[in-house]
Amino acid sequence: MTKTAATNDERMIRLLMELRRGGISETHVLAAIEQIPRDLFVLPAFADQAYANLALPIDCGQTISQPYIVAYMTQMLAIGERMKVLEIGTGSGYQAAVLARLCRRVYTIERYRSLLIQAEERFTKLGIHNITTRLGDGAKGWPEQAPFERIIATAAALEVPPALIDQLADGGILVAPIGEGRHDQRLVRVTRTGNEIKREELIAVRFVPLVEGIADDRT
Ligand code: SAH
Repeated sequence: MTKTAATNDERMIRLLMELRRGGISETHVLAAIEQIPRDLFVLPAFADQAYANLALPIDCGQTISQPYIVAYMTQMLAIGERMKVLEIGTGSGYQAAVLARLCRRVYTIERYRSLLIQAEERFTKLGIHNITTRLGDGAKGWPEQAPFERIIATAAALEVPPALIDQLADGGILVAPIGEGRHDQRLVRVTRTGNEIKREELIAVRFVPLVEGIADDRT
């Protein structure tokens, strides 16, 4: 008997089960993951791995994060539907698309123009209209739109950029990978209450570095 390849729907169901086993228990987070077709966010050569729990390469030497990490960071942000969320590192646009299902508006910053253009095309194709993009250095945040109830960085810095903490609303939560090199990073969650800043260390992760300035990717 020949074994037929699993469909993307079947792969998605398996992925959701894996996320649940890994502690992703928030139904609305799992529903958001279920609603975003990750195969549209990966390079064609990796389409058959789009629903595996793997980080995959994208253009400009960057990566689309592992679905578990996207779900985990989203769950740690405890997003409400009326919130404004800032993302640093648009990349493929996948994390932004997941966030956009859960909040009022996502503001996302990327330093590679070509990645930003591809991400915008994906949002349009999926009919997602509550994401605003910007080419820029995310370490500076987006002062014109601040404060943000939630901030997520998907590129690793040595410390949380001070501008991002400044742009966090009262009661706001920021989640970011922090650490030197790819092998020594941890997710950090920063919660702001008035002028009090609480910092917690979460799981070990591996993200591409946060790089200063806009990239020159003109060809
Ligand atoms: N959230 C993305 C993950 C992309 S990887 C996704 O779901 O696919 C991290 C991204 O951060 C890369 O695209 C990289 O170019 C970008 N990046 C790195 N430093 C940056 C900076 N200072 N400002 C904005 N984007 C940055």
